[in-house]
Amino acid sequence: MKLYVIFILSILFCMSDARPKSTQKNVKATCGYESCHPTRRDILNVHIVPHTHDDVGWLKTIDQYYYGSRTLIQKAGVQYIIDSVIDELLKDPVRRFVYVESSFFEKWWLEQSVQRQDQVRELVSEGRLEFAGGAWSMNDEAAVHYHSVVDQLTWGLRLLNDTFGECGLPKSGWQIDPFGHSRELANLWAAAGFDGLLIGRIDYQDKSRRIKEQEAEMMWRGSDDLGTESDILTGAMYNTYSPPPGFCFDILCADDPIIDDVNSPDYNVDKMVDKFVSYVSNAAKGYKSNNLIITMGGDFTYQDALVWYKNLDKLIKYVNERQTNMTLLYSTPGCYIKALHDSNTEWPTKQDDFFPYASDPHAFWTGYFTSRPNSKFYERRGNNFLQVCKQLFAQTKAGDPDQSKLYPLRSAMGIMQHHDAITGTEKQHVTNDYHRILENGIQSCLSVANDALNDIMASPTKLNFTLCQLNMTQCDVSENSNAFVVTVYNPLCQPISNYIRLPVIGTDYVVMNAAGIPLPTQMVPLSQTLVSQLKNRESNATHEIIFKADQVPPLGFRSYYVLKNTSSDAFVSEFKKIEKDESSTKADMIAIENENIQVSVDSSTGLVSKITLKNLGNAEVPLTQDILYYNGMKGNNSIFANRASGAYIFRPDGDKPEVGETIRENMILKGPIVQELHQRINNWISQVVRVYSQDNHVEFEWLVGPIPIEDGIGKEVISRFSSNLNTDSTFYTDSNGRQLLKRILNKRPTWDLELEEPISGNYYPVTSMISIKDTTSNRELYVVNDRAQGGSSLKDGEVELMVHRRLLHDDAFGVEEALNETINGVGIVARGSHYLVIGNTDESEPPAVYSRQLALKKLLQTQTFLAPANGLSLTQWLENNNTFTGVLSNMPDNVHMLTLEPWKDKSLLLRLEHYLQKTDDPANLSKPVTVDLEEILPGLKIKSIKETTLGGNQWKDEAKRLQWKASKNMDESFNDIYHKTCPETKSEEVSKNKSTLRDHISNLSKNGKKFEITLSPMEIRTFVLDI
Ligand SMILES: [Zn+2]
Repeated sequence: MKLYVIFILSILFCMSDARPKSTQKNVKATCGYESCHPTRRDILNVHIVPHTHDDVGWLKTIDQYYYGSRTLIQKAGVQYIIDSVIDELLKDPVRRFVYVESSFFEKWWLEQSVQRQDQVRELVSEGRLEFAGGAWSMNDEAAVHYHSVVDQLTWGLRLLNDTFGECGLPKSGWQIDPFGHSRELANLWAAAGFDGLLIGRIDYQDKSRRIKEQEAEMMWRGSDDLGTESDILTGAMYNTYSPPPGFCFDILCADDPIIDDVNSPDYNVDKMVDKFVSYVSNAAKGYKSNNLIITMGGDFTYQDALVWYKNLDKLIKYVNERQTNMTLLYSTPGCYIKALHDSNTEWPTKQDDFFPYASDPHAFWTGYFTSRPNSKFYERRGNNFLQVCKQLFAQTKAGDPDQSKLYPLRSAMGIMQHHDAITGTEKQHVTNDYHRILENGIQSCLSVANDALNDIMASPTKLNFTLCQLNMTQCDVSENSNAFVVTVYNPLCQPISNYIRLPVIGTDYVVMNAAGIPLPTQMVPLSQTLVSQLKNRESNATHEIIFKADQVPPLGFRSYYVLKNTSSDAFVSEFKKIEKDESSTKADMIAIENENIQVSVDSSTGLVSKITLKNLGNAEVPLTQDILYYNGMKGNNSIFANRASGAYIFRPDGDKPEVGETIRENMILKGPIVQELHQRINNWISQVVRVYSQDNHVEFEWLVGPIPIEDGIGKEVISRFSSNLNTDSTFYTDSNGRQLLKRILNKRPTWDLELEEPISGNYYPVTSMISIKDTTSNRELYVVNDRAQGGSSLKDGEVELMVHRRLLHDDAFGVEEALNETINGVGIVARGSHYLVIGNTDESEPPAVYSRQLALKKLLQTQTFLAPANGLSLTQWLENNNTFTGVLSNMPDNVHMLTLEPWKDKSLLLRLEHYLQKTDDPANLSKPVTVDLEEILPGLKIKSIKETTLGGNQWKDEAKRLQWKASKNMDESFNDIYHKTCPETKSEEVSKNKSTLRDHISNLSKNGKKFEITLSPMEIRTFVLDI
C-alpha cells in the first residue's frame, strides 16, 4: 500500500530540532571572520597560527595518544594538550589556537565540568579557539573512498555544531599531513562550504616551481562536471606544518626560548628577531598576497602550552617593535583565508590533483596506496555494514533518540579514514587496535540489524543473525546447521541481483525462496590450493553452495531457507585438470564463458589469452593476465639513493617485475551458474578466474601469501592485464571512487617532470577503478577493484594493480617498523577481486556506465545475514515476512542514495547523488535527472525537508562562501586538454562559467504537493527530513 506523504514546505517547519542551538548563555558571538585580528594593507601580515597535529593513531593507539601512555614510544598526550591550551587562551584574549581532530576533542569534552565547558564555549564564541577541518579525523586522500569521507566529515561537524552552534563551523579545510591531495576531496571541501583549504605535502618539484612562480596558493577546481561551485582557494604552506627552524618553542623541541633580559649573557632578542625576519621575508617571496601563514606547532605539541605562548607573545612583541616591513599577529586558518580573500589578489588555477607525492627523487609515496591490503578491505566492508545498519535503523526506529548502538561504528569508520589508518602507515600494534575498534563497531551495529530484521520478519522464533567471514570461506552457521536462514539485504536504491556463495559440508542442500520453491543451485568444491593457502582458516567445508538472490528490492531484503540432508537437485561441479599437452592440438584454447563473454586460456602458458565479446559480434580482444612481483629495494636511508621500500614508499629494485618460480597448474569447472578457471601459479600465489551467468564482466579473484622472505628480499605483488589496446601512454584512475582523472606516463600536467623512479613515479591511487582507452577505436577497458590499491599503465595496453606487499626495511618516515605483517609468525595472506570490463563506448550500456554501477555494487554489496533456523520449521518460516521492500521505490539508474540515516530527534539525513560524469553516457544517463521524493520515499511520513551543505551542518540557503578572483578562466575539461604535446588551452567564457551555478533552492517544490530534486552529473545533495 502506498502511504500518503504530505510535504509542508515551510520555513517554520524547517526550524526544527535538526540543528540544535548552542546552549551557551548570553555571550555575544564574535566568532568567525569578525573575530580576526586586523591586518594591514601596506606591509606583510605574518599570521602566527598556533596548532597541534594530533594523529588519531600512528606510533601509538588512539587511547595511548589521548592519555599519554607508552611515553617511551612517543611523548604525546592529547588530554594534556587541550587542557594546557585552554588555560593559556583564557589568560589573554589576544591569543589564538586551532584544533582539528573532533574524535579527540569529543573525548576531552565529555570529561570536563560544566564550568570548564562554559569557558571553552566562550573561547569558541569569541574566535579565540577555532576549529579547522573538523572531521572525526584528518582523513587520508589516496586510499579513502568518498563515501566514508563524507560520513566522517559529517560526524565530526555534527559534534561541533551540537556543541558550539554557528561558532563551531570550520571556515577552512586543514589537510596538513596527508601524503598528496586528491581532486575529489577539493570538490567535497567546496561542497561542505569551506572557504579555503590549507595543505602541507605536495611533490618537491611541484613545490619548488610553485614557490618560484608564486603559485603555491591557487584556485583549485574540484570537478569539471560541477564547475565554479567546486572551486576552492587552496594554499600549500611554506614549511609543511612546522615552525620556522629555530622557533619550535615546545617541550619536545631543543630550540632556545627568547631571552629578553638585556643583562643576561644569553640575551638573544636581536638575534632571534633577525633570524625570524630573514626567514619570513624569504618565504613571503613565494606567495602572491601580503599575507603569510606561519604554523607554530607540530605533532602532539602544546602539552605545555605556556612555553609556546610565553615565547610567541615575545616574538610578536619584539618583531613588531622593530618596525620592519612586516607585522606579526595571532591568527587562525580561517582568519588567514579571509585575509587572502581581502587582499583582492588574482589567483592561478589548478584542475588536476597532487598525486603522486614525492619528497625526494627516490621517495615516491605510492606504497601506502596498497600497504596492509586486509585492513583496507576490512575498512571497506565496515562502510558497507555501517550503511546497512543506518538504513535499517532509519527504517525501523526512526525518531528513536537512542542511537548509541550506531555510535561505535560511526566513530570507528571516522578513525579508519585517518591518514595513518586506512593508509597502513601505522605500527603493527596500532593496526591491531584499529581492527579491534572496527570489530566492536560492527558487533554493535549487528545488534541493531538483528533487532530490525526480526522486527520486520515478525518471526515466532527470534533469529540470531551473524555475519560470516566469507572472505575466508568459513561460516559456522552454514557449515554446522541442518537448517538455516539466509537474509540478503540490498543497501542500494535500485533492485540488485547477486550470487550468494556459502561454505557447506557435503552437497545435499536445498535453498527455498519465500514462496517455498527450491532455487537452482550449483555446488563448487573447495580447491586444495585454497584450503592450504588460507592460513588460520577454521572450517571443515568441502563445497560452496551458490544461488542467485534475484532482484532484491532497494533498501529491502529477500530471505531464504536452507535445508541440509535433503535430496537435492544441485548441480555438482567437478574440477577438470587442464593438461599442458592440450596445447599440441589446434583446439588448445580452453574457455570459460557465459551468454555475454568468453575467456580463453592458453594451455601451454596457463594464462588467460583472449576475451571474446559475444554481444559485440564475437569481437576478440587478445588479453593476458598474470600475477608478478617486484623486489622491494633494500636500503639504510642514509642518502636519498639509499631509500628503502617501506610502508609509505614503493621503490622496486629493478625495472621489471619477476615471475619467480612457477607451478602453473590449471583446473576448470563448469556449471549453470558459474564457470571457473582455478590457477595455481606457485606455492603462494593462486587465482580463480570466473564468469557468472549473465554478467558482463570477468572476475579475477587473487589469493596471495604468505609472501616468502627467506631470501631476505621483500616483495610487492601486482596483477597485470596486457591487452592490444593502443593507449598512447595514457590511462585513467578514479579520484576517491568518483571522477576519473587522465594520467600520462612520465608526465605531470603542471611542471616538467624529472623522474628517477620510472615505476613508482607512475603509480597513482586506484580507489575503485583504473581504465585505458583505445586511441584508434571506441574500445575501453576497465578494472574495478574491491579496496584501494596502487596502479599504473607502464606500457601501452597494460594495466597493473598492486595487491599485496611484504617488506623487510623501514623507509625512515617515522614508523620505524618494516611492513612485515604476520599472524603467528607467518606472513599474512590477502585475497580479493578485480573485475574486468571491456566494451565499446557506443554500446547501449557503455563500459564507463557498467563499470561505475559495478563499482557501486561492490562498494555497497548486498549484506548476507545468516541465522540457524533454531527450531523454526520451513512451514513456520514461510509465515514470516521474508521479502521486504524498503521505504524506497526504485530510483532512476543514474541516482545513488548515498545516505539514509537517523539524524537528530525525529529527523533523517538523506543524500542523493548523480554518480555519473558528463562524459560517461552523454546521450542518455549522463543527463541531469529529476526525482520526486514523494514517489521514491513512499514509506516515510515526511513533514518537511530542507537542504543542507554536504556536511549537514549548515542550511544550504544560509551558507555563503567567499568569492574569489582567478587569473585565468578554467578549462572546460582537464581530461580533454591534458595531452602529451603541449595543448592549446581551450577556455570557457566567464559568462558560461557563471551559468553553471544553479540555484538549488529553486529546484524544490513548486506546488507543495510534489517535491522534486534535480541532480546534475556528479552532484551530491544533502537533506534533513523531518518525520
Ligand atoms: Zn599526521
